[in-house]
Amino acid sequence: MIKVFGHKAPDTDTTGSAILWAWFLNNHTSQKAEAFVLGRLNKETNFILNHWKLAEPELLENLNENDDVVIVDTNNDQELPNNISECNILQIIDHHRLAGGLSTKSPLEITIKPVACTATIIYDLIGESIVKDMPENMKGLMMSCILSDTLAFRSPTTTPHDRDVVEKLAKELGVDVDDYADKMFAAKSDLSDVGDNHVVLMDSKKVSVGDKNLRVSVIETTVPEEIIARKDNLVKTISEIKESEDLDDILFFVIDIFKEEATVFIQNDFVKSIIEESFDVSVESDIEVLSGIVSRKKQIIPALRLPN
Ligand code: MN
Ligand code: MN
Repeated sequence: MIKVFGHKAPDTDTTGSAILWAWFLNNHTSQKAEAFVLGRLNKETNFILNHWKLAEPELLENLNENDDVVIVDTNNDQELPNNISECNILQIIDHHRLAGGLSTKSPLEITIKPVACTATIIYDLIGESIVKDMPENMKGLMMSCILSDTLAFRSPTTTPHDRDVVEKLAKELGVDVDDYADKMFAAKSDLSDVGDNHVVLMDSKKVSVGDKNLRVSVIETTVPEEIIARKDNLVKTISEIKESEDLDDILFFVIDIFKEEATVFIQNDFVKSIIEESFDVSVESDIEVLSGIVSRKKQIIPALRLPN
C-alpha cells in the first residue's frame, strides 16, 4: 500500500492532491494507495471535504523504513517526516522550487511544474479523458485545490492553465466559481475558535535568509481586522514559538484576499529592518501594509533580505 501525503501544516492543495492521487492509483493502476495528512486540517479544507462529502484523510502517525510513499505539494525535507529519506519514495508531484535535502534509495518519478497548484499537475498526469469521467467529488476537490492555491486567480502564481482547468471542471459540475470560492474563503476566515498557536503555525514555512532561520507565516482571510485585533496575543505566541524552535524570528503576514494586500506585524527592530530592506518601505508603526502582496511563494520569500 502506497502512502500519499503532502507537507506539514496541511493546506487544501496538499490534502486534496493526496486524495486525488490516491484515487487515481486505486482506480486506474494496479497499485493500492491511501492518502494521509501530517497535521490538523484548516477550516477551508474541512469545508471542501464536507461540501463534496469526502472523508478526512487519516493522520500519518508513523512512517516506517521501506514504506512506499508518494509526496505531493512539497519537495522540502523540512516539511516532511524526519525519516522521509529512509522510505521508498516512488514519486514526487510538486510545484515548488527544489529545496534540496531529500535523498532517495532508488530512481524515482519527479514531476515539478511552474503552475499554481499541485492539483493542476495531477490533472495533466491523469489526463483529460479520465478526468472527464471522474466522480463529481473528485472533480470538485481538484477545482477547490486550484481555487485555494490561486486565491481564485488573484495570486500572481496563477497560470492560464490553472484557470483553464478550473473553468473546465466548473462547467462540468455546474458550479459558479466566484460564488463557490467566496464560500471557501469565508470558511477559511472564521478563526474565532482557533487558538493563537495554531493561527501562527497553520500556514507557515521555515525559510533561511543569509544566516538567519525564520518562519514565514501567512493567514489568508477576508476579515483581516479580526486577526489584527488579536495582535498583542499573537505577538506573545510568536515569541514563544521563536524561543522553543530556536528561530531568529517569525514574519507574520495577514493577507487580505479581497483587497489584495498584506499586513505584516512589526514586533521588534529586527523584523522592522527586514521588512524595510525587503519591501523598500519605511515602517512607522507596529504593523505595515504592503499593497499588492498576496503570495508568499512569489512575492514574499523571494523578496526577503537581511539589513546590512
Ligand atoms: Mn501547499
Ligand atoms: Mn500547492
